[in-house]
Amino acid sequence: MQSSGNKNTPSKSNVLVSLDQIPLTSLKGVGPSIEKKLHNLGIENVQDLLFHLPLRYQDRTRIASINKVRFGDHVQLEGEIVASKILFGKRRSLQCTLQDDTGFINLRFFFFSAAQKNSLSPGTKIRCYGEVRRGSAGYEIYHPEYRLLSAIKDDALDQTLTPIYPSTEGMQQTRLRSIIDQALGKLNDPDQVVEYLPVEIRQAMKCPSLMEAIQFLHHPPQNVTLDLLESGQHPAQRRLAFEELLSHRLCMRRLRITSNHKSAPPMKIRGNLIDAFLEQLPFELTRAQQRAFTEIAADLSREKPMLRLVQGDVGSGKTIVAAMSALRAVENDFQVAIMAPTELLAEQHYLNFTQWLEPLNVTVGWLSGKMSATRRRTQLDLIQNGEANIIIGTHALFQESVNYASLGLIIIDEQHRFGVHQRMALRSKSDNTAFSPHQLVMTATPIPRTLAMSAYADLDCSIIDELPPGRTPVKTVVVSHERRQEVMARIENACAEGRQVYWVCTLIEESESLQCQAAEATEAIMREQLPDLNIGLIHGRMKSREKTEVMEKFKQGELQLLVATTVIEVGVDVPNASLMVIENSERLGLAQLHQLRGRVGRGSLDSYCILLYQGPLSETGKHRLGVMRESNDGFYIAEKDLEIRGPGQVLGTQQTGLMSFRVADIARDADLLDDVKKYSEEILRHYPQLVEPLVHRWLGDREDYGRV
Ligand code: ADP
Ligand code: MG
Repeated sequence: MQSSGNKNTPSKSNVLVSLDQIPLTSLKGVGPSIEKKLHNLGIENVQDLLFHLPLRYQDRTRIASINKVRFGDHVQLEGEIVASKILFGKRRSLQCTLQDDTGFINLRFFFFSAAQKNSLSPGTKIRCYGEVRRGSAGYEIYHPEYRLLSAIKDDALDQTLTPIYPSTEGMQQTRLRSIIDQALGKLNDPDQVVEYLPVEIRQAMKCPSLMEAIQFLHHPPQNVTLDLLESGQHPAQRRLAFEELLSHRLCMRRLRITSNHKSAPPMKIRGNLIDAFLEQLPFELTRAQQRAFTEIAADLSREKPMLRLVQGDVGSGKTIVAAMSALRAVENDFQVAIMAPTELLAEQHYLNFTQWLEPLNVTVGWLSGKMSATRRRTQLDLIQNGEANIIIGTHALFQESVNYASLGLIIIDEQHRFGVHQRMALRSKSDNTAFSPHQLVMTATPIPRTLAMSAYADLDCSIIDELPPGRTPVKTVVVSHERRQEVMARIENACAEGRQVYWVCTLIEESESLQCQAAEATEAIMREQLPDLNIGLIHGRMKSREKTEVMEKFKQGELQLLVATTVIEVGVDVPNASLMVIENSERLGLAQLHQLRGRVGRGSLDSYCILLYQGPLSETGKHRLGVMRESNDGFYIAEKDLEIRGPGQVLGTQQTGLMSFRVADIARDADLLDDVKKYSEEILRHYPQLVEPLVHRWLGDREDYGRV
């Protein structure tokens, strides 16, 4: 890794190593197992520790008087245990009464050892910390953290607030704190964490220096207003958020600029493939589809690579626009790679494109991670000798071993499921070449403007803001799990009327195998309770061939009820399906619910979505499901989702890694974005040497993009 260009060359021979080069194991108390836990937290080196900021703080800088405590306060108390007894109520517990000069309060332990009970006997003096609750006889603190005064060597109080860090299983706060404090200790040398923001930007933004901000956030002084800090509005936090957002934007802008310097094959109108394709469709394009294609066609006709995002709500007909764009490349003798995020969606595209385009003598190829070696070999040959015009697949399309004869256009469908990093990885494949294919990115997750500004700063954008005519909005109802029997009756009725139904099983666990097990169990129950229906099952663990068969049967109407996992979230298109039941809907993100619900309401039938939930619902839960009931508009839902849950979840960071920020929070820091935009241009113009180190600090090595 190249070191950042703007440091002074150190005169001594023992060159200072920048903190991101120092391994975690160089710290006291960090062995391989702790290192692994730190990795789980996204911490790879000593510098990362500095940017691992507290979630909240505890004030242990003072001792509260027992008579002053209020319900809900987090307090530190000091006093003498005056009574200690075991209570046998609903749950056995140890209750100790603590007394100071001003009053009494009870401490309650539901888990305690005999030794603990003995150590907390009357006469013992302790210092403890915890949250004040209302008990049956006055205030209580459950499970306070405590230390015996006799064991406190230095009984001076903390000088700064105590940070509580995001942690992981088996990593205690005290351990994490001591590790982070060691990293902070290394901060004293100003060369180790370089201030990149130019002075004039810092002054204009009125922000503290990087060092000050970091020190402050890990150990705020006792007089700080916690509200400001806990709402993320403190200048120190804003400073880091600003730098992070700036770095993300610089990363995107740099890619765009590099790309603009490359040449791409200009694609003109040749022949009438597109007209022939449109003629065989049973419908007319919507105006929005036409507009999007006009914009794409204009890009494709130029000699620099297109980088365009098509945003269109679920069901707005993006596939047709993709097909038209692909045909423009094909008529110019270029190949097109169409990448889908799931095997199932890729399959569906493959089937559609084959059906649409083979009559037009266009050859459609197929590549996925799961195919047999022989079939793969054949496909690789077709790709390499140029016989395959359009190749559809998963990210297997971009593995080393795939050689295109003349790749001119890359189309990425449902981009939100891939993540920025994968998109970048793809792009960086052509980094060192002067030539670059055009790129079209499609997404159904409507992204609020603020998010789009960061996530897609490198792309031009077309919006399909119109659904094909004749669609009736999906009616959504929110139903408690206890009323499952009524739901079964609804399913029977729908099937009796010749409609088809999806039953979506969801689990919060990431584990795919658990999801599949749940779907299998549900299918069994359905067969028992609805013996007259033809029921199918589809989940991610099935073989591709099995999945395709089940989908085909459902499309043909042979299956009436399809029990599925969220694998059907994207790309499944069966217009006769008019009822969808989503289990545990309270656990899913709104964007995901909206995607799933988009599987119904694709024809002109009245369609319904039943959101089953396990009560009781929290206030937020009610609010969120209310949004789904109220609206079918993906943009509105996305804005609400952002408001209610924050950007990580909106973009499904956990599932997709689209945009994850360490410090910034797009909803909270949205007001910074205009400055981010302004100053990123300024840095590109006047301080181009800062781009690389900033991007490196916040986004890591370029190689990271390679981890697709
Ligand atoms: P998405 O934008 O979610 O990818 P699709 O491309 O899958 O949407 O299209 C959804 C459905 O709408 C498909 O069945 C497709 O054939 C149909 N469709 C697309 N464009 C039109 C149109 N202009 N008029 C009528 N139906 C259309
Ligand atoms: Mg689609």
